[in-house]
Amino acid sequence: MIICPWCGTNYIDFQSNCKNCGGPLQAVAETSANSAPDESLPTPPPAPRPISDKYIWRLLFADGWAITAFVFGLLGLIFALVGGGLIVGIITAFVGIPFFLLGIAFLGAGGGIMIWRYQQAQKIVNVLRVGQATQGQVVELQENYSVSVNGQHPWEIRYQFQAGGQDHAGQVTTLNQPGPKLQVGKPVCVLYLPTDAQWNSIYPHP
Ligand SMILES: [Zn+2]
Repeated sequence: MIICPWCGTNYIDFQSNCKNCGGPLQAVAETSANSAPDESLPTPPPAPRPISDKYIWRLLFADGWAITAFVFGLLGLIFALVGGGLIVGIITAFVGIPFFLLGIAFLGAGGGIMIWRYQQAQKIVNVLRVGQATQGQVVELQENYSVSVNGQHPWEIRYQFQAGGQDHAGQVTTLNQPGPKLQVGKPVCVLYLPTDAQWNSIYPHP
């Protein structure tokens, strides 16, 4: 059985790309059965890795900012439509105009944040595609109770690693509860952009 290292989907037969998230899958090496897999860190396939743009949406789904922005935008749209409807029925325009303006403001704020988060997610996908691998360490694990997605709270995993002789910190958010390999003090494989190490992620993505 093959488990997608990017999203955790299970496959019985080997395929080059995950159908769920588009991430590249690796054939299970014959030798890995003999060595203890828990001792060694997983190593990503060499760059560039073909990761689908669908992965961006997967990241946004676990992102508190993006979810809040989406709700704001949706409320804004409803307000703008209701306000617009009231303006058309001229008699109530004095109620409709503030409704409409509030809706536009919400829609603008939500849309702006969505674009910002989308660009962030795009950069993370770029890290997963072309990033360089190194070893890091988990330093903090936190469940974010202020955000809820389908009754689940996202986990924030903070980690440290070294690149170009400097210490760097990073963080990933996931809806999956971190397993025994992702506990504080555990080594993790970190992917980062050699040109700008502030863009990084851990591999496999939890
Ligand atoms: Zn996948």
